[in-house]
Amino acid sequence: MNSDKWYARTADEAIAFWQTNPYDGLSSSEVKARLNKFGFNQMAEKPPEPWWKYFLAQFQDFMVLVLLAATLISAFLGEYSDAITILAIVIINAILGFIQEYRAERSMQALKQLAAPTARVIRNGMIQQVAARELVPGDILVLEAGDKIAADGRLIDDHNLEVEEAALTGESLPVRKVANRQFGENAPLGDRKNMIYAGTSVTRGRGKAVVCATGMRTEVGHIAGLIQASEEADTPLERRLENLGRWLVWGCLAICFVVMVTGIFKGEPLFLMLMSGISLAVAAIPEGLPAIVTVSLALGVQRMIKRNAIVRKLPAVETLGCTTVICSDKTGTLTQNAMTVRRIYAGGQLFDVSGTGYDIKGEFFLNGQEFDPKKDKSLQQCLLIGTLCNNSVVKQNNVSITGLWRRKNGSGWTVEGDPTEGALVVAAAKAGIWRETVERMQSRTAEIPFESERRRMSVVYRMADGSHALYVKGAPDTVLELCRYYYNGTTEVPLTPELVASITLANESMTSQALRVLAVAYRNLSPAEAVNVSDADERELVFVGLIGMIDPPREEAKRAIALCKQAGIKTVMITGDHRNTAIAIAKELQMYKDDSDKALTGAELDALSDVQLAKIANQVSVYARVSPAHKLQIVRALRQNGHIVAMTGDGVNDAPAIKEADIGIAMGITGTDVSKEASSMVLLDDNFATIVGAVEEGRGIYDNIRKFIRYLLSCNIGEVLTMFIAALAGMPLPLLPVQILWVNLVTDGLPAMALGVDPSDPDIMNRPPRHPAESIFSRGLIRKIVTRGIQIGLSTVLVFAAVYYWKGDLPLARTMAFSTLVFCQLFHVFDCRSEVLTIHEIGILTNKFLVLAVCCSITMQLAVIYIPILRGIFETAPLSLIDWVCVLVVSGWTFILSTLRHFLRRSPGRRYAVSYR
Ligand code: ATP
Repeated sequence: MNSDKWYARTADEAIAFWQTNPYDGLSSSEVKARLNKFGFNQMAEKPPEPWWKYFLAQFQDFMVLVLLAATLISAFLGEYSDAITILAIVIINAILGFIQEYRAERSMQALKQLAAPTARVIRNGMIQQVAARELVPGDILVLEAGDKIAADGRLIDDHNLEVEEAALTGESLPVRKVANRQFGENAPLGDRKNMIYAGTSVTRGRGKAVVCATGMRTEVGHIAGLIQASEEADTPLERRLENLGRWLVWGCLAICFVVMVTGIFKGEPLFLMLMSGISLAVAAIPEGLPAIVTVSLALGVQRMIKRNAIVRKLPAVETLGCTTVICSDKTGTLTQNAMTVRRIYAGGQLFDVSGTGYDIKGEFFLNGQEFDPKKDKSLQQCLLIGTLCNNSVVKQNNVSITGLWRRKNGSGWTVEGDPTEGALVVAAAKAGIWRETVERMQSRTAEIPFESERRRMSVVYRMADGSHALYVKGAPDTVLELCRYYYNGTTEVPLTPELVASITLANESMTSQALRVLAVAYRNLSPAEAVNVSDADERELVFVGLIGMIDPPREEAKRAIALCKQAGIKTVMITGDHRNTAIAIAKELQMYKDDSDKALTGAELDALSDVQLAKIANQVSVYARVSPAHKLQIVRALRQNGHIVAMTGDGVNDAPAIKEADIGIAMGITGTDVSKEASSMVLLDDNFATIVGAVEEGRGIYDNIRKFIRYLLSCNIGEVLTMFIAALAGMPLPLLPVQILWVNLVTDGLPAMALGVDPSDPDIMNRPPRHPAESIFSRGLIRKIVTRGIQIGLSTVLVFAAVYYWKGDLPLARTMAFSTLVFCQLFHVFDCRSEVLTIHEIGILTNKFLVLAVCCSITMQLAVIYIPILRGIFETAPLSLIDWVCVLVVSGWTFILSTLRHFLRRSPGRRYAVSYR
């Protein structure tokens, strides 16, 4: 049989050919065997670069090449010790650079793995989520709206299934798919409506397919050929810093040239001056800047993963710190998504239901008295529809429930599927109604799946006597509109305005108690109607009742919202739920106050123009009964008001709003593949608090980048000034070339790297958000850099001049200047940890890497002064205790001064007086 023209054959033929079973799928051993035979379901990729290529790439840097040339010149002129030392320094620098870049690359790779696509399949008789690359031919794929299809397959079941195939056919309108049709062998790809193809996505409905082709054998595989690993684009900050770096290079080269020429005119040896110029240029140019930015971004991203946020697009890390509004879904993000039915309105009576979570133990009450649910027909019908119009399974200890476990107490009850539906299964089970038992007499023949826009779901069941019934559940306002009759427990009566008024009243009362309310209804279908059921059949329904369930707010969300307030970030709830329910939950979360906040419904939103919406958007804290299309309007209005918007979403239709937002956030657990693909960040735990944690990390990462820019640049200014002032003042060289290179190594290396992983300021969420266009040097950073650079330069020259002119001992003067320059920077690195707090307020030991890095640098410095062989190479002189006191006082003076200044400046009222927006 021609195995790639499955559209011309029946679903059964495909199932038989691939030796699979639509109910149980493949067994694990069979999957293993097929993986061996067919390989992984992935495109052929270019192999990753080996580690040594990263190492060699370090030697392609222009400044490194200049240094290597200097090494050769030294060797040529017989200055072997200089040549070896410079070479050693170049190699150590390359190793440091390599470690940084390789680490950044590895963490980026790890990130990609985390964001790897998955697929739902039936294997060993159970629905399982597996990595898409592990799909094999014969697997039974379970498809839902929002799924990105991971392999080619022949459909075996469909419920209003629509697939968007633009990636393959260029046709952006979704195509309706059907399992039970065949097409001619020459049918073009776009017409093969019984097939699904890898790379396309489900926009609507549900279905099942048997996988027929994986990896390079799929249609997209034929087109794509070899997929090149995509190039990671630089973030805006990285680009800005690269530009800055270029300016600095030219500035530094100019100064080095002046130093060199002045020396030569003064009669210093040509070679010495050439080497000094080169060394100074190497030391002064902050070549490590872009690498450290990447490392801090990558490490920050890893910290975010620990806090359950996966960043998919690196620039989002920078934008996170600027976020001014977080728009969040309610259900599952601000609330726990752990639903329990509490009240039921049926037959004109209000019943209470007891019990916790998904445990099926609970009783019914009417007017405070325990009530036997079997005594009320409308209550029973209500629960029956709730459990049949449902795709969730409630399990105990991973086994699906039937009446068997009814009397079993205990925990371990979980829901597989939508928690809203799980709550309905549990409520019915509490009344002795079991879907498994009912389905022995009635069987489902059709389904119109739930969609956020429709706010309802319908199923058709065939009774034992061959008749059919349509069961509908959904948002009360939506369902009520479709009802014409009312079931009062005995018979169906016309739905009068009085009845509608009492249902509406019951709904209002339940929703204002923060209950999430669903209405249930039904209609008996004629045999003709039961054949091809569509939305149009959801009419003239018989209203049965309302079911109200609690979904408690997340405690951590409450704390996170309070934190947002402190941080100047507005939080907005966007939900498909009822306005009252939304407001009640928002009040519990303290994100809504009657006097200052507004709530808008989708219908009210529709009546506003974009300009009108933008005008009031800043006051709206709750958007209720909105559909995904409204989210896009909301994002646009807020952005128009100058906000940086983070927006969550999970459904297939949330993708446009997620893309439009500055930070699009998808849900890791309940989110569809399409929403994840559109997002810049995915929440592994669907939790609002995780977003706030990520914002905090985003602010911290930006702070850290500012910290090491401050450190590197002020130190480099200090080094250049030392040489420059000495040259202008006609002094001998205060530092020899190898000494300059050494200073660069011990200060710019480990300590700067350690600053990149500095813990966030404890006050980081007490400031308003940063403006995205703000310069990296804003808020006084440039002044701090320049003044500290001058301090470092002057201190070093001063020590050199004092010792040289007073004692006339050039090696001693150089060693003292050399050590002063190193220690100035090692003291300064602690200052750079905060722009607001003093090191004593932060705690010296709170960044252990930094303490370790500084200790390493001190040891290295002592080594070049006290180990005889190194002393020879670096031409240093041993320092006495008095010398050290001098060095430490002069270099620590700046540290003490800045500490004092921090203390004096610290008046709580002024600390955050700067407005960043
Ligand atoms: P949020 O948008 O905050 O995540 P939500 O679940 O209320 O919350 P939607 O999923 O868009 O938002 O649902 C909209 C409405 O549709 C709900 O308020 C509810 O009335 C109804 N609904 C939700 N789930 C189902 C379902 N499985 N079957 C039928 N109706 C549902």
